Amino acid sequence: MTKAAGHQVGTACPLDCPDSCSLSVSLSDGRVVALDGGHANPVTGGYICGKVRRFGDRMYGPDRLLRPGFRLGPPGSGEFRWVGWDEALARVAGAMREARDRWGAEAVLPYCYGGSNGLLTQDTADARLFRRFGASRLARTLCASTTGAANQALYGKMPSVTYADFAHAKLIVIWGANPSASGIHLVPFIREAQRAGAALVVVDPRATPLARLADLHLALRPGTDVAVALSLHRHLFENGLADEAFLAAQATGAMLDMTRSVGFGPVVEADTLAHDAIAPGTPGAAAVRERFSEGVIGPDGCVDRVRLGALVFDDCQARRDLEAIVHPAVYRAIRAWMRAREASGARMAIAEIPLLFETGHEGDFDCVVVTACAEAEQVRRAMARTSLSETEVRRRIEAQGPLDDKVRRADYVIWTDGTIEDTRVRAAAVWDALNRRAVMGY
Ligand code: SF4
Repeated sequence: MTKAAGHQVGTACPLDCPDSCSLSVSLSDGRVVALDGGHANPVTGGYICGKVRRFGDRMYGPDRLLRPGFRLGPPGSGEFRWVGWDEALARVAGAMREARDRWGAEAVLPYCYGGSNGLLTQDTADARLFRRFGASRLARTLCASTTGAANQALYGKMPSVTYADFAHAKLIVIWGANPSASGIHLVPFIREAQRAGAALVVVDPRATPLARLADLHLALRPGTDVAVALSLHRHLFENGLADEAFLAAQATGAMLDMTRSVGFGPVVEADTLAHDAIAPGTPGAAAVRERFSEGVIGPDGCVDRVRLGALVFDDCQARRDLEAIVHPAVYRAIRAWMRAREASGARMAIAEIPLLFETGHEGDFDCVVVTACAEAEQVRRAMARTSLSETEVRRRIEAQGPLDDKVRRADYVIWTDGTIEDTRVRAAAVWDALNRRAVMGY
């Protein structure tokens, strides 16, 4: 913003909110006198959220800290001695040096994250300072890693639905979210879709503004919605209402979900555990960073699996190094999960492990079930659900053990070349056989 008197400037919201609003700021004598939504970004539509509309109050607020203060009394007492910048910097540097000399540089933890930081104010001078000092490293994902993990688990790499696509929906389900407070620019698109005939379902204990406008508001008790999700899921599969063609072409884990729907019970997934093994802040993430450089760490602090995948599938040694980091943690977690199942009196503990034979762990299990289909179908499905080329998919298939060998060594094989219904029937037969084994002991 420039310091000219009595005029308006267009700028953009500095927060890391996905709405990326364009702002219209009114200035008078170099001071912000009003701030509202602009029209450069059509999604903003001339209005913004309350917290940013009041940025001016914060910028000129009497409580805003404009100089360093040295606390005199106990925390919360509000007793400060105001000091100059030189003294403040000398005190902070002195305390950091003292901590380093006494306990080692890792005793200092830089504790900050984004939100209102831009490219120039995060991970530039601060990163260099703390790196050279040798401070502890913090995965800068203080609030984003949990939502990121949930998003990744639910949607994979699909970032989201663009707002403009909502207008074409026939059914919109808002599950545990309140866009009227946390995604205000989505609301007009939902309302437009409703006017065009879309049904709106809101699953939320609260009567949110959109819940009050919904065709169906399921006000479930907090924490009980997973039962509703599972029963919906079962209903769709058991009544042939799931879009099988879409699932076969676009979804990962559909086979796993389907086996659950025929009653396989809880299944521990090695792929999920592999994600956990290199989650931000874990020893696995640190080992990946050290072996493969900062380049494989995304801006959210998570390992960028696409970049990492490209590196390891071109280099056998790199793949072996990555497996040496991830696999021990995965099998430790699987063994712990199985012990817990046994302790709970469960008759069976089922693990889904894509590289079971390759890792030489088949002997850890009483029984091995392989799901298989022809290679051409594997390639077609992988290309439909990822952005990989045919060559890349084939290279990844070649990096695994031969399918014939796995089929020969398996106790049971479920062929998945046919329809989802065919696969369901085969999975149910295997499930019956496994139950008989568990009960009869053969
Ligand atoms: S909704 Fe608010 S926080 Fe989000 S981009 Fe717009 S002004 Fe910024």
